[in-house]
Amino acid sequence: MIITREKPLQEILGFLQPYKKVLVVGCDGCVQPPRSLRESERMASLIELARSSSGNPIQISATTVSRQCCAEGLQNQLKVEGYEALLSMACGVGVQVMNSVFPSLPTFPAQNTLFIGYETKREGEMFENCRACGECMLGETGGICPVARCAKGLMNGPCGGCVEGKCEVPVEIRNWKGEVVQTLKNDCAWYLIYQRLKELNRLDLFRKLRLPKNWGIAGYPRRL
Ligand code: SF4
Ligand code: SF4
Repeated sequence: MIITREKPLQEILGFLQPYKKVLVVGCDGCVQPPRSLRESERMASLIELARSSSGNPIQISATTVSRQCCAEGLQNQLKVEGYEALLSMACGVGVQVMNSVFPSLPTFPAQNTLFIGYETKREGEMFENCRACGECMLGETGGICPVARCAKGLMNGPCGGCVEGKCEVPVEIRNWKGEVVQTLKNDCAWYLIYQRLKELNRLDLFRKLRLPKNWGIAGYPRRL
């Protein structure tokens, strides 16, 4: 179960400011409170109203998918031709999967992901890419999360340990007994962020100085 809270409208309007044709994509999956078609349509209406009243009109539509965290499902269910940007109503994982499935478009987050619960059944290899920090910054990092994917959680990067796009911090894969079965090098998150922002012609976001995050929101143990 993934709990989110809607971002302030002004922040979302800031992400979408350069774009004229935008698709809001809901998620019928585990995100709570619900962020499906009804919520996506409401969000699209708010954005449309705000943009037309500021003299910068936008063409905006809303849809939903069964789960934004499934790459195969997104490929089959979502038609993004004709849009300049996507706005995700899902959690930080959904935003990142949308960015990887539709690399020609930027996907921006409409939610702050607060809290991720757990499941007891494991079906295969898993990659963590959201730590539910409560202040989602994917809108400034090309849809790649430095909180979860940079070994040092840096707000500005890369650090001096980035060599040929790889992070200096090794990743140890362990079996259920806790034994190390594989050691590998991860891609440097900030290298990936740079490449992605360059691809999107948004290196202005890479140059921006990001101040320290408010880690108080992400402190454990948490209650909602
Ligand atoms: S910045 Fe990263 S950890 Fe924080 S909510 Fe967004 S994806 Fe999750
Ligand atoms: S090399 Fe990249 S991913 Fe590794 S700690 Fe430095 S900035 Fe983070």
